[in-house]
Amino acid sequence: MYTASFEVGAFFLLLAIVIFSSATRGRQYRAPKGLRAKVLNQHFVFLILVGSALIATTASVGTVYIELSAQKYSETPRYFLNWLYFFFHSTMAVSFTLYIMDFNGTFTGRKWQFYLLFWTPYLISEAIVILTPFTDWVFYLDEKLAYHRGPLMPLLYGLSAIYILLGFFFFIRYKKAITDFNRKAIPALILLAVIGVFVQAIWPDVRVELFAEALAFFGLMVLLEDGGGEIDNLTRVFNRRAFIKVNRRLIETGQNYWMVLLRLRNLDLFSRFFSGMDMERIQMDVATYLEKLTDQESVFHFRREDFALVLPNAGPEDVKLLAESIMHRFRQSWRTDDVTATLEVVLCPIHVPDDIDSLDELDHLLTFGLQSEESGSVCLSREMISRFNRMAEVEDSLRRALEKRTAEVWYQPIVSSETGKVVSAEALSRLSDEKLGRISPEEFIPVAEQTGLIWELGTYVLEESCRVMSQYGLAALGVEYMELNVSLYQFMHDDLTDVFDRIRKQYGIAPEQLNLEITEGTSTVATDTIHNMMKTMNKKGYTFSIDDYGTGASNLGRLMGSRFKTVKIDKSLLWNAQQSESAEKLLSSLIGVLRSLNVNVVQEGVETEEQLQLVRRYGGNLIQGFYYSRPLPEKEFVEYVRQQNGQE
Ligand code: C2E
Ligand code: MG
Ligand code: MG
Repeated sequence: MYTASFEVGAFFLLLAIVIFSSATRGRQYRAPKGLRAKVLNQHFVFLILVGSALIATTASVGTVYIELSAQKYSETPRYFLNWLYFFFHSTMAVSFTLYIMDFNGTFTGRKWQFYLLFWTPYLISEAIVILTPFTDWVFYLDEKLAYHRGPLMPLLYGLSAIYILLGFFFFIRYKKAITDFNRKAIPALILLAVIGVFVQAIWPDVRVELFAEALAFFGLMVLLEDGGGEIDNLTRVFNRRAFIKVNRRLIETGQNYWMVLLRLRNLDLFSRFFSGMDMERIQMDVATYLEKLTDQESVFHFRREDFALVLPNAGPEDVKLLAESIMHRFRQSWRTDDVTATLEVVLCPIHVPDDIDSLDELDHLLTFGLQSEESGSVCLSREMISRFNRMAEVEDSLRRALEKRTAEVWYQPIVSSETGKVVSAEALSRLSDEKLGRISPEEFIPVAEQTGLIWELGTYVLEESCRVMSQYGLAALGVEYMELNVSLYQFMHDDLTDVFDRIRKQYGIAPEQLNLEITEGTSTVATDTIHNMMKTMNKKGYTFSIDDYGTGASNLGRLMGSRFKTVKIDKSLLWNAQQSESAEKLLSSLIGVLRSLNVNVVQEGVETEEQLQLVRRYGGNLIQGFYYSRPLPEKEFVEYVRQQNGQE
């Protein structure tokens, strides 16, 4: 005795899936129109898959209904419903494989022989089904209208099985082309459908096969088809996730293609004096412009200032023309109701696989690239990419060193020019890596600043310095305070003061024993943020130095009104003073003015006796340089202090 309840359930479930997934169409990244030849339209394939299941289910429910009803139906509708079932059952099998292969992007770009082989079993199946009314190959109804299996029925199931196996094969062979999550979800859903098939094979009356399949499709829809997370809320173009997804597919399946990354360099600056609404309007206008220029589905927006175009069908000439029109457009201004802005754009055309050939490289490019390029069209070279790869390695290495606490802090003595005693020291980070060897701060500090790791590094250096001061009783040895380099990013963090307070208290260090160095460049941007923070910290007793003075563009007037207790004059000023008279006058008067204002002057980069005498003559009161000592590991540093300060 049949029960049709499962199949009726399957019918409604499938109907719901078809309706939902048609309605949500467009919420997920689909292939651009021109791109169909390379990446099929996955959504479309999904609809065919679910649609054929729906028709097969409808036919099956119809058959059961007729068999159960007391009425006598004529042969034709019964026959037709059975026939319809087989026709679409075969379609389901082939569209399953198509769906998998389309999902990981392996269906496209193959030789014609592949497609011939691919479609042959399907064509044979449908030929068998189509000829069945004349041949009784798959099934037939006898005179009493009873249903019988035909001789080719096993062949039909065998051909379907080929597709299922093929789908599995391509899933496993190219599993790198899809995300971890999908790699787990797809087999789980397939297993669900297979269980349904087995249950029905063992107990033919429990007709759960179609229901289990419908559930599996439902899973696919919820987990894979719903791309709610792939659209940028503001501009309605695709977001970074979709960008990674399409590139993953294209890269892992070995496609050659171009993309163009765009950064609006001065958008960040505008955000300080434009309203949020104007900023949003501008981003939306840029997105719309790019959509019109290319194809709606080629445009991606990941961060406020970053856009990308993925152009799988473009050749180098197209990319060049496209870049030219973009540059042309950006030479004109962008208007909202309230503002007119001229946006500086950096364009990076990138070819896969010539410029980058893995998702990792793409990721490094997004993290480190576009950072310092001039406004104007920029072509990325292989060397730049390998520079980004190196930066990513440095980032990893620094992260590991901070986690395992193997990063080192060395201390460079700062000596009084009158007494020759060590009154202070600058804490400088040192990083060495098993694989990369010693990495210079000139290299890892910028990486730390770009990745935000500078915050952890700063905290680490602070803690190490406090530990060393308290462990060796440096205050008693005459070291009055420790100088710490603090980057702009750290000042942006509201917690800076709290972290300083917490850590120094832990080691019994007074605020007066900590002096924060800010580079001259940093001190001229985001002045408000820094000034407020300095004010708070000053009140608590912390002091500040301006670092590398003379390399940036600050003026003395500003300096006078500020809270810097110390100015560290850059080594270049000293070295130039030895070369030219005017540079000498500049340095001597600079030191003169600063000292008359009661500001401490540290001369950096003193390497020779002659340089030392020069600084003494000008009245500089503190010296830092190789003449006295290079930066030293803690034990050697303490040893040096003991010797120099005569407390052996
Ligand atoms: P800086 O703050 O100006 O530090 C002084 C740099 O000059 C140090 O380079 C030091 O080794 C070098 N130096 C000192 N005396 C002499 C000399 O007589 N001659 C020459 N030629 N060089 C001398 P280092 O350690 O390579 O650090 C480079 C920069 O990296 C530092 O410049 C600082 O801006 C940054 N830095 C180092 N550690 C940290 C850190 O933990 N946090 C932050 N934010 N920046 C750091
Ligand atoms: Mg410094
Ligand atoms: Mg310096």
